[in-house]
Amino acid sequence: MSQLNFDTQAARKLINDQLQEVSEELRMLEPRLENKPDFGLGAGSPGVYSWEMALNRQERATQQQEELRQALERIEAGVYGICQQCGQPINPERLEILPATPLCVACSAAIEESGVQPDVVLAV
Ligand SMILES: [Zn+2]
Repeated sequence: MSQLNFDTQAARKLINDQLQEVSEELRMLEPRLENKPDFGLGAGSPGVYSWEMALNRQERATQQQEELRQALERIEAGVYGICQQCGQPINPERLEILPATPLCVACSAAIEESGVQPDVVLAV
């Protein structure tokens, strides 16, 4: 594992920054989700629409938060930057853009093609 040529300190900082952003977003979404609209208004009404948008963002942010936490755990475990699917090192440039990614480009593309959700793979 000594051949990993990127800085896990930098990755940790990047991930912590993103984690903070996601937590901030979740905090901002909370009051919007508390006021559940009257669904009797119908799915197309602006109140229901904006509530559903907030819910979508919350789900995505929660998933992102989980991915970022797992990435931090991989740093702690010394396996950060290793593809969770094939065990090959992930391209450092990819990690700079997607610091929380658990997969190399090839595996990520294969999963997208097969239509399997990445979080299903993560759960294995
Ligand atoms: Zn891979």
